[in-house]
Amino acid sequence: MKKILVLHTGGTIAMAEDSETGAVSTKQSNPLLDVVNNFEQDIELIVEDFFYVPSPHITPGHMLALKKRIQEGVLEGIDGVVITHGTDTLEETAYFLDITVGHLLPIVVTGAMRSSNEIGSDGLYNFLTAIRVAANEESVDKGALVVMNDEIHTARYVTKTHTTNVATFRTPTFGPIGLVNKHIVSFYQQLITNHTIDVTSINGQIPIVTAYAGMGSDILDLLTTSKIDGLVIEALGAGNLPPQTLPAIDNLIANNIPVVLVSRCFNGVAEGVYGYEGGGAQLEKKGVLFCNGLNSQKARIKLLVALNANLSKQELDDFMIEKV
Ligand code: ASP
Repeated sequence: MKKILVLHTGGTIAMAEDSETGAVSTKQSNPLLDVVNNFEQDIELIVEDFFYVPSPHITPGHMLALKKRIQEGVLEGIDGVVITHGTDTLEETAYFLDITVGHLLPIVVTGAMRSSNEIGSDGLYNFLTAIRVAANEESVDKGALVVMNDEIHTARYVTKTHTTNVATFRTPTFGPIGLVNKHIVSFYQQLITNHTIDVTSINGQIPIVTAYAGMGSDILDLLTTSKIDGLVIEALGAGNLPPQTLPAIDNLIANNIPVVLVSRCFNGVAEGVYGYEGGGAQLEKKGVLFCNGLNSQKARIKLLVALNANLSKQELDDFMIEKV
């Protein structure tokens, strides 16, 4: 008998549509709490209504609370965790858990694109498949996973790609690592590294700025160095910036603000290729940290974790640029 800890946090999976106005929102109580486990007899569910919020309300503080509950659950002897979550920020919570406690046991995060009383609601089905994956022997040591629409994705690379489609969660470049079939759960890929780093606090201001044609220093100059702890830039192409941004980048680095770079491209990784003014090779020489293969919202979570882990400057740089 596997013991699976279920932590409900809210989101569309736990919401209902108002028949008169059509507005989707939270109810008096979470409808998922009415779901009884009569589908998987060999699994014991320990269900907790942990939060009941839409995921745009989720903060790193909520993520830290989830992490602590999982660590307590490990001491209580649970075999896996399922977290139900709003899909808007699901990938950030999943990735936070991946890099802090993803090695401890299967952690599966799921949600829904249609609320509990909508026709074609995907919530109950995703919840059921997430439980099956969390209880599966092969899910151990794969980091946190995201299970939606019969696909298993790594928290590290998955992203929400569509505003409303039930097939919204995709893994650009690499694809899903497994499938949930009618009777079996199958994995086809394994992550090559699984580096975790625990934290007990999660404070800091790290904005994300997207680069664009004609971008100047002005937007970066608005970021007062005394008010931010780091910056994530979604750069152009393979990792380049317009040359007018360089004085502001130099100023941030001179003030010991870590500047982390990812690409605004949907696929591929950022690397220091181009040697021209603002090109990636020059940025790398300046000390801009190229965060390999993550999107900006996850690079931000990674930097937040790094800043709260009391790392030396060298350790922080190595952690941010390591092949993930
Ligand atoms: N806005 C909702 C949320 O993230 C979307 C969803 O759950 O699918 O809470």
